[in-house]
Amino acid sequence: MGLVAGASRIVVKVGSSLVTDEGRGLDHEAVARWAAEIAALVREGKSVVLVSSGAIAEGVKRLGWSTRPKAIHELQAAAAVGQMGLVQAYEQAFAQHGLRTAQVLLTHDDLADRRRYLNARSTLLTLIGLGVIPVINENDTVTTDEIRVGDNDTLGALVTNLIEADALVLLTDQVGLYTADPRRDPEATLVRSARAGDPALERMAGGAGSALGRGGMLTKILAAKRAARSGAGTVIASGRESDVLTRLAAGEAIGTELVAERQTLAARKQWLADHVQLAGRLTLDAGAVRALTKEGKSLLPIGVVAVDGAFQRGEVVGCFSPEGAEVARGLVNYDAAEAAKIMRRPSAEIEAVLGYVDEPELIHRDNLVLLA
Ligand code: GLU
Repeated sequence: MGLVAGASRIVVKVGSSLVTDEGRGLDHEAVARWAAEIAALVREGKSVVLVSSGAIAEGVKRLGWSTRPKAIHELQAAAAVGQMGLVQAYEQAFAQHGLRTAQVLLTHDDLADRRRYLNARSTLLTLIGLGVIPVINENDTVTTDEIRVGDNDTLGALVTNLIEADALVLLTDQVGLYTADPRRDPEATLVRSARAGDPALERMAGGAGSALGRGGMLTKILAAKRAARSGAGTVIASGRESDVLTRLAAGEAIGTELVAERQTLAARKQWLADHVQLAGRLTLDAGAVRALTKEGKSLLPIGVVAVDGAFQRGEVVGCFSPEGAEVARGLVNYDAAEAAKIMRRPSAEIEAVLGYVDEPELIHRDNLVLLA
């Protein structure tokens, strides 16, 4: 059985070039097809959440611009214009099947703050419970780089984890993941099934993207890895394939299936792992890396050799190996200035250095998630 067939809650993400017919303008026919297919899944008892790109591409078209602008304020204006078209198209298409839609615009900040994260979760679950199809996009009109999720493949994975969906379907203009870039390598073959998070996939995916959206094959592979942390499998398939969603739901193998491992993270650690932006970075020595990754220990100041960023106590920081790989992340007990003062020192000296002790650990184990 394919992973979509077995799923009861599904996140479907459609990319910009599909939705806007390569930037020519909203592809109403395609939107109508996906809506009909999603409606069929809903009749089968599945819940579906849609993540749709295309706001900027459609806005650029509506504003009569010949190319995608570079300036942030113009991109934001285009997103605001295009988003109107997107939600109207979905609303109309789903109404044909008696389904209501809801627009949900998210930013990274909404998901990074635990309270807002839980709030977004409960809103989405309420909408699902009401039988409404949420249509999600990044809130491009107000986001700046610092608070951006960045691409909708990643946003799709975050939403998958947020609502504990069983499957993430990334519809794109390619048929799936190839072992190499098929435009350059005639030997490239389609990967039918693999384990999400297999590092070999990242090498296969290198580079390929489109000029319209922000994602490429690599962001899709990384999204699958992210979604797998809550146990969700991912399918990468062509949104142009006829009846792609209904056929996937019937168990047919289409595109690339990336299967999740069984072991999943506890909800709070999941939320930590899902921070796309970090408030700061701690570089650890080899001993601290070992203590975290092999011995299940907390992070002590003595194992930290460098502190970067202007983080506050309680923010999420990354823990990097001496080679620069992020091995873990967690909620930090001291702010950046304090951390810089107590790094490389035994915890018994914290009081002498700072004049007070909050905790002996820089990051307590309970507030830390390994990323290996
Ligand atoms: N949020 C962007 C838009 O709607 C697209 C992001 C992406 O392409 O991944 O235009």
